[in-house]
Formats: sequence, C-alpha cells, structure tokens
Amino acid sequence: MPLIALEDVRKRFGDNEVLKGITLRIEPGEVIALIGKSGSGKSTLLRCINGLEQLDGGAIMVADAQVADDEMRLRLLRLKVGMIFQQFNLFPHLTAGRNVMLSPTVVKGTSKADAEKLAREMLERVGLGHKFDAWPDQLSGGQQQRVAIARALAMEPIALLCDEITSALDPELVNEVLAVVRSLAAAGMTLIMVTHEMRFAREVCDRVVFMHQGLVHEIGPPEEIFANPKTPELQQFLGTTA
Ligand code: ADP
Ligand code: MG
Repeated sequence: MPLIALEDVRKRFGDNEVLKGITLRIEPGEVIALIGKSGSGKSTLLRCINGLEQLDGGAIMVADAQVADDEMRLRLLRLKVGMIFQQFNLFPHLTAGRNVMLSPTVVKGTSKADAEKLAREMLERVGLGHKFDAWPDQLSGGQQQRVAIARALAMEPIALLCDEITSALDPELVNEVLAVVRSLAAAGMTLIMVTHEMRFAREVCDRVVFMHQGLVHEIGPPEEIFANPKTPELQQFLGTTA
C-alpha cells in the first residue's frame, strides 16, 4: 500500500495548465527527489499533496484519506503532512522553542508542558537542543531552517514535503540542513524534496522524479536517472545543472 498516491492529478491557473496528469505512488519510508526546470510544476505538485491547492482533476490519497476540497479534511491532511519552504518564516517574536511549540498547542491542543517537552526533543533531533531560548535573529540561516524542520516534526507528520529548503542559504550552511534531512531519511521518514542538490539526491534518495512541462517525464532510481538519462529533456537538464 502506497503512503501517498497521485492519480492523474491536474491543476491549472487560468489558461495555464501546470499539472497535466501526474500519476505517482510513494511507499512508506521512500525518499523522493523532485527535479526539473523552473516552472515545471514541482512546487504546485507539493502544494497539491499538502492540500494547499484545489485539484482540477484526478485524485490524491494520503494514508487512505482522499485529499478533498472539503475544508475539514484538508485541515486534517495538513496536520498529517509537513511542509518546509525555502523561506523558513519563523515567528521573529517567538524563541526557537516557542516556534516549535506553537502548532502542537494551538492546532492540536497539546498542553504547554507536553509541547515544551516535545519541542526540546525535536530541537535535539535537528542538533539545536541548546537553542531553545534563542531568538530567530540570533540564529544563522541554517539554524533557522533546522528550527523550521523541528517545527514541522513537532506535528508528528507521516511525510515531509521539502521545497528547495537549502536554496536561500549561504553555501557553507547547506550541509548542516542536508545532514538533518539525511538523518530523517535514515530514520525512515517519508520525504519528497524538490532540490537542486544533485549529489545529495544521488546519495540519499530512493527515486528521482524528473518533471517537465507538468508531467513526470522520467522516473527511476538515482543511479539510472543520473548515469543514464533516457530523454533529451533530462539529458539537457542534467547538462545545465551539473
Ligand atoms: P516550479 O516549482 O517547478 O518552478 P511552479 O509549480 O512554481 O513550478 O509553477 C509552475 C507554473 O505555475 C508556473 O508557470 C507558475 O507561474 C504557475 N503558477 C504557480 N503558482 C501559481 C499561482 N498561484 N497563480 C498563477 N500561476 C501560478
Ligand atoms: Mg518551485
């Protein structure tokens, strides 16, 4: 049984058909790299999986529940699937610990004591156990992104969607964030990540999905996708990013 199943998913913005029929099954614990040119629909696909966009066709199942337009179900879905963005968007007026505590207390009704315990555990998991009381502007970009990951983990998601989470970071801060992702992957977290870090994708991902013009153009294990790209589009894409 796949954890996440997309069946002929379609999405348009006005006349712009952005997703043209995406079918994809993701197994529990799988780590997927989503690659492709800017504008190929990668972010839109993640937003659809997380229920942030209404579909124009097809269906998405997440752990048995269909992603529906029903507000209530969408809200439940967003509780189950975590998403991390390029911009970490921590609340500047809250400490790192309070940022991580916020959703469990506000959304799930977790008690303050339990949320604090959870937040300390999650900050520990991203290597920031000592930063509970730090303010976001006292943290480096890499540390802020790790707090954002801890914040997503505090909701105990069944999968994490990562949209270019290292793209806004200075090069020397990329590896500390990728190391956290690597540890989550090793611990069995299901991950779908849009990334330009091809070496990381090659090392950590189980499968690579190459999107082109709103469709899955090639899909396969990293050793095939990177060493033996079949379509000219993927060959060209890899040639320009290598
Ligand atoms: P990628 O993440 O691969 O760069 P996106 O999913 O962000 O691609 O965008 C795919 C296409 O959808 C682009 O043409 C973009 O302009 C368009 N698009 C994305 N979001 C919106 C939106 N909210 N409204 C209108 N057009 C959008
Ligand atoms: Mg994008």
